[in-house]
Amino acid sequence: MYSYLTESAEETIALGRRVGASAPAGSVICLSGDLGAGKTTFVKGVVEGSVGCGSEKVSSPTFTYLNIYEGESVIYHFDLYRIGDAEDFLEMGFDEYLSAGGISCIEWSERIADYLPPDAIMVTLAHCEEGKREIVVTGVAPQEE
Ligand code: ADP
Ligand code: MG
Repeated sequence: MYSYLTESAEETIALGRRVGASAPAGSVICLSGDLGAGKTTFVKGVVEGSVGCGSEKVSSPTFTYLNIYEGESVIYHFDLYRIGDAEDFLEMGFDEYLSAGGISCIEWSERIADYLPPDAIMVTLAHCEEGKREIVVTGVAPQEE
C-alpha cells in the first residue's frame, strides 16, 4: 500500500503518470472517491505515463461510460457513475474491454465490485484541505519518474 498527499492537480497527474508507467499491460485500475476528488485528473497522468500521448483529450465519460485513448498503448477509460450494476456492465459488452490487453481505468468501480479482477490496482482519492488530496494506491508500486 502506497499513500500520498498531493497538493495540486499537477501533483496528482504526476502520481498518475508514475502508476501508468508501472502498470503492466492489461491492468485494471480502479478509482474511487467523491465527485471532484480527482479521479479524472489522475487518469490524465495514467494516459501520459502509459499511452504516451498528451492528456488534453482526457475527460470524464460520464454520459457515454467509455472513452478510448490510443497511442503507444491503449487506455479504456470508464466512468460508471450512472450505471446500475455489474449486470448492466456485462449487458453493454464492456467486460470485453477489460481483457483486450490495454489498461482500463474505471471511475466509480464500486458499481461493478462483484466483477473486478482480484489483481486490480486500487486507487482511492479523498479530499483534504483546499487543493490537497490523500491518495492511496494498492496493487502496484508507483515507480519514480
Ligand atoms: P473526479 O473525476 O473525481 O470527479 P476531477 O478530476 O474531475 O474529479 O476534478 C478534480 C478537481 O479538483 C479538478 O478541478 C482539479 O483541478 C481540482 N484539484 C485541486 N487540487 C487537486 C489535487 N490535489 N488533486 C486532484 N485534483 C485537484
Ligand atoms: Mg471524473
